Amino acid sequence: MKADITIVGQGIAGTCLTWRLWDRGKSIRIVHRGDHRSTSLISAGLLTPVTGRGMNPSWRLEEFLPEALRFYRSVERVLEEQFFYETPIVRLFANAGERARFDAKREELAPWIEGMVENSECPYDAPHGGVVWAGGGRLDTQRFLEASKGYFRAAGLFDVREVDLEVAAPDSEVTVLCAGAAGLGSGPFGFLPERRAKGELLTVRILGFPEERIVSRNGWIIPLGGGLFRAGSTYSWDDLTDTITTAGRAQIEELIRSFTNLPYEVVEHVAGVRPIVRQSRPVIGRHPEQENLAIFNGLGSKGVLYAPGAAERLASHLSEGTEIEEALNVRAMVS
Ligand SMILES: Cc1cc2nc3c(=O)[nH]c(=O)nc-3n(C[C@H](O)[C@H](O)[C@H](O)COP(=O)(O)OP(=O)(O)OC[C@H]3O[C@@H](n4cnc5c(N)ncnc54)[C@H](O)[C@@H]3O)c2cc1C
Repeated sequence: MKADITIVGQGIAGTCLTWRLWDRGKSIRIVHRGDHRSTSLISAGLLTPVTGRGMNPSWRLEEFLPEALRFYRSVERVLEEQFFYETPIVRLFANAGERARFDAKREELAPWIEGMVENSECPYDAPHGGVVWAGGGRLDTQRFLEASKGYFRAAGLFDVREVDLEVAAPDSEVTVLCAGAAGLGSGPFGFLPERRAKGELLTVRILGFPEERIVSRNGWIIPLGGGLFRAGSTYSWDDLTDTITTAGRAQIEELIRSFTNLPYEVVEHVAGVRPIVRQSRPVIGRHPEQENLAIFNGLGSKGVLYAPGAAERLASHLSEGTEIEEALNVRAMVS
């Protein structure tokens, strides 16, 4: 199949870029490994406006968040299915220090605060209380990817095969590598500084656990309905395989135990590798020496937030020749 633009990879990066180019009527094809080896498929799908122990609003949140929400709503309209659920996210304070840190930043964080939570409102011990973040939610990433794949496959854009990322010989006007963690560390974009991080998560059944909100405290628990919860996640930098580990499972089970003593059953245990370049800031643009080779990577832990906006900027560059701003441009990262 011939096309002007070849997109390698159908994780959240490749999928969002495909939608952006499809909306512009471009000639595209997607080449994808075809198995389930995509980090996006196991992602928890959270979009949390304020993250980390430091409780910092995500980079350029006011810009990328509304863009992301508009994008998911527009794809939902085409596919007639809901993927993004706007849900308040409860961030419990792990200790008095965290509470004090929050109090000191409260004014700065005001736009993202929906309310506060006290211990008495929690079905578990939360002695330092917590804050409810506004504006975030959860993408059912798996359904978003599968439904998009069905649509593009029906349009004849899909090609299932493995591409040799080391050489990535483009046979289109331009080939965009959206290969996630597999596209970092070596190959034509091997010059990018990277800090890929493996992560694991569990899906567990906890009958009778009454929490209906997404809650985070040293990790998060997401209610899926029917007594099912997703819990995670871990970070490790030594082993960059997508193999599950007993240590990862033990760490997440400890997190679950910090919320409830009810018996639980592990239904699923998965692992993937986060493609981290500069924290979770996306990297897009053409290779410094090969005009017909481009990249969309670096989504880190924040694919749901950044993929739609970064895809729009890359699509605009590829179709209309718009300049890519330095903060996102891979060419600005050559040392
Ligand atoms: C445990 C865990 C939890 C996470 N939770 C969240 C979360 O709650 N919210 C959030 O926003 N982010 C989360 N993330 C991060 C998120 O998953 C990533 O940001 C995102 O998946 C990266 O998407 P991507 O499209 O760049 O890469 P991927 O999803 O890995 O997609 C890469 C694609 O390239 C294809 N590919 C690779 N090599 C080749 C090849 N040689 N030939 C052909 N195709 C190839 C793959 O098959 C795949 O389709 C989490 C990550 C982990 C590990």
